[in-house]
Amino acid sequence: MIQAWAAKAPKQRLEPFDYDPGPLKPDEVEVAVETCGICHSDLSVIDNEWGISNYPVVPGHEVVGRIVALGSEARGLKVGQRVGVGWACGSCLHCEQCLSGNQNLCPESMTTILGHRGGFADRVRAQWPWAIPIPDDLDAKEAGPLLCGGVTVFAPLYVYGIKATQRVGVVGIGGLGHLALKFAAAWGCEVTAFTSTEGKANEARSFGAHHVVNSRDSNQLAAIAATLDLVLVTVPVPLDWKAMIASLRPKGRLHFLGAVLEPVPISVMDLITKQRDVSGTPSGPPVTIAKMLEFAARHHILPQNEHFPILKVNEALDHLRAGKARYRIVLDM
Ligand code: NAP
Ligand code: ZN
Repeated sequence: MIQAWAAKAPKQRLEPFDYDPGPLKPDEVEVAVETCGICHSDLSVIDNEWGISNYPVVPGHEVVGRIVALGSEARGLKVGQRVGVGWACGSCLHCEQCLSGNQNLCPESMTTILGHRGGFADRVRAQWPWAIPIPDDLDAKEAGPLLCGGVTVFAPLYVYGIKATQRVGVVGIGGLGHLALKFAAAWGCEVTAFTSTEGKANEARSFGAHHVVNSRDSNQLAAIAATLDLVLVTVPVPLDWKAMIASLRPKGRLHFLGAVLEPVPISVMDLITKQRDVSGTPSGPPVTIAKMLEFAARHHILPQNEHFPILKVNEALDHLRAGKARYRIVLDM
């Protein structure tokens, strides 16, 4: 039996939940969870905010742990090896997306906490390509949030070939946002933090921001018009999108990572006249996760975490819901 914590219905507190995962499939590995970060997406799935949750929900998709069992088809991994598991834990491995290294875009990709049971548990399973080795020189106790938050903010820098000479804005300095500041600064970029929380300005600078603006103050946004090449949106709420687009230089990109549920009004003329893009990406494929971990190890990038024991998981979720997390919560199993 796997000993987990689950929400039985939307917006419920998590309760202990034991389940039998059945025989290990040939292409799966089983991981004994050491730590698991809490992402805002865990809250959204617990609350069924996106209308796609299956209960009981076992949250947790920023797992670090050691492999305790290997299916017969698993390749390149060893029992006892330390790995991470993120937002996705499986894909078909034979479609065009999988074969071209875009496994996160596979139509059959399996999400760790939707229709599968996640990492708020003593053990979790994943298809072997999605169990990513953790480099030895990365502090495993703190690395968990890199598996979702880290790769999600790293992927656009990598995928769009952002150059060190470019200027990157990060909107929302939470779990994803504070990592985005660290990655963009290590990438060599000039970095602007957009925050709605006054008390975060100094810490945003310590994470690598060169400039800080108030994300809810349209006058401050107007003052930075046409200065940025890439703006990464990590908030889940509507903001002044017209001003955000206006902050882009010609050929700039407004890139959504936060799950903003309200439609975003866009003036096509604001795009055409400056050849701007508006886009979004879902987490990242295994090879991008591995590259991100390697880059994080080389540049000493780790999330700033607050640790809670798994027995206090509900207090930890309340702390995140209240907007008090600084800047990621990690559960210790
Ligand atoms: P988080 O730690 O809660 O951070 C979100 C940040 O948004 C907050 O720290 C806050 O930053 C800002 N914010 C929240 N409410 C606001 C409001 N009313 N007005 C202005 N700013 C507000 O969340 P997270 O874990 O980083 O996740 C962020 C979003 O990304 C969520 O929607 C999550 O589901 C999504 N996500 C997407 C992917 C993907 O693959 N695309 C992956 C992971 C997560 P300030 O205090 O600085 O304003
Ligand atoms: Zn996540």
